[in-house]
Formats: sequence, structure tokens, C-alpha cells
Amino acid sequence: MEYVKTRTIMTKSDQGNHWFGIDYHMNLYRGCSFGCIYCDSRSEAYHIKNFDEIKGKVNALEILEEELSSKHFKGVVSFGTLSDPYNVMEEKYEFTRGALKLIEKYGFGVSIDTKSDLILRDLDLLSAINKKNNVIIKISIITTDATLAKTLEPHVISPEKRFQVVKRLKEKGIYVGVLMTPVLPFVTDNEENIKSMIKKAHEVGARFIYTKMGMTLRRTVAEYYYEKIDQLYPELSRDYRGIYEKSLIANPLRYKDLLELFVNECNQYQLLCDMGEIIKDYKRVVPKMNEQISLF
Ligand code: SF4
Repeated sequence: MEYVKTRTIMTKSDQGNHWFGIDYHMNLYRGCSFGCIYCDSRSEAYHIKNFDEIKGKVNALEILEEELSSKHFKGVVSFGTLSDPYNVMEEKYEFTRGALKLIEKYGFGVSIDTKSDLILRDLDLLSAINKKNNVIIKISIITTDATLAKTLEPHVISPEKRFQVVKRLKEKGIYVGVLMTPVLPFVTDNEENIKSMIKKAHEVGARFIYTKMGMTLRRTVAEYYYEKIDQLYPELSRDYRGIYEKSLIANPLRYKDLLELFVNECNQYQLLCDMGEIIKDYKRVVPKMNEQISLF
């Protein structure tokens, strides 16, 4: 693994109310090798060269400790917005595990997005953090179809294994749900997939399933994605370019109907799917250290 140096690790989030109530962002790695054909982190906006090669931020933990020890507001720190924190390098280098130890030591909360079962290695730390502050885990799954998932996310474990990760986390008392994003027009935007995703999420004990029922296609991401669509689904190529080429957002043609179906199915299984409700729900599970402190 190649290393890069960093001057800062945590950045204050201004979108907490819109995205899982997070207070700080953090990326310990640059790039990701899971190969998802729709990955938004490939965008040139993030200035990551050779995205498929992972680089570790060599001084990340040292800087993180300085930052955590100097912040009074012990909010929720988000891992994995630009790179999966349990990518293939994490097993050996343990940057994510090291950061979780520091988060536990300084009493912060944590929000993790991942597609990997390596997160189960860190159950001890997640449970310890959970006693002091808020924890929310989002396991990212976009289809229940294993063959399709292998095509779209070539180096990721199967959907079934990911659902089993949800089950294990839930059994250990960790607040966990499914991130069903993106939804790919003409590929995963069908009723059958939406229904089976929600049913499966319910069966394994997810507290929520969240989707935006569409995808973002910023320039570099779009070029990469259209190239993959050309290779994998040549018959879709003309529709994609004709309908979405000029847009940054690619929503399914039946967006409204599918969203309605999604909400109805979630209601039927009593799964949360509204961002505001998810935030309220997970933040009340454990009394926040900040609230406890304000009592004195
Ligand atoms: S796991 Fe996440 S960061 Fe990695 S390639 Fe897939 S979408 Fe991108």
C-alpha cells in the first residue's frame, strides 16, 4: 500500500440533518478497490488519482488523536464517505480499528458505511462506543441478486453475506440498517428488487433501509459508468446517454411510483426509511454524553 501524509483528518459536517445526523467526516484511506461501477467517489471533485489503488494516510491516527482531544463537542464521526473503511488493506493496516480505539477513548459517536464483513472484527470496540455515545452502522446493499451484485460490485462479498452482517450487528445490540443507494435506472430499479430488499432487511433485523431512489452521475463518474454499461449492457447504452447524459442525477423513469412502493413496503414491515426518523431513532437509543454533561 502506498502512503500519503495528511494535515487534518476530521472535518465538521454541515449536512448532519440530511445525512444520518453526522457531525464530523473522516477518511483514513484514499481510493477503494471494491470496484463498484457506480462509485461516486471517483468524481474529479475529490482529486483522487488511480482511485482503484488504496493509499493510507500514514499519520492519520496521530492527527486524529490531537483533533479528538481538542474538540469539546463529542459528536458522531462518520467513516467511509469516500472510501470503504473496511477495504482490503484494513485487515493488515488497521487504520479503522485504530481510529475506533481513539473514538472510544475520547467518548465520540460513530457512523460507518461499509460493504465488508470485516466490520465484525471490531464488534468489541463498537459495543464499547455504543455504551457511551451513538453508533449507527449502514451496510450498503443495492440488490438481493448475487449474480447481478457480482457484476456491479466485483470485489465485494455477496448480498447474502452482507445481510448476515446486519444480523450479527443487530444481535450484538448495535443500531444497524441497510443503505440501498444508489438505485441504478434499468438495472436495479424494479419492483421485485425493491420488495425483496425490504423483506430481507426486515428478516435480518435491520432497523431501517434508506434509499434516494436514483444515482448521481457527475462527469468522471458518468464516463466510467457509461463505459461499464456499454460493456455489460450494450442494449442499455443508448437509453442511458439519451435520457441522462445532460443530468447530474439519474432517477428511474418510474421514480414516483417506485418511491411510493418503497415507503409502503417499509411501513408494512415497520422499517424506518425517512432520514429524519432514522436520526431521531438512533440518537435516542443511547443517552448522548453531551446531553449527560449538560445536566451538571
Ligand atoms: S465500496 Fe464504496 S467507496 Fe468502494 S468502490 Fe464501492 S461505492 Fe466506491
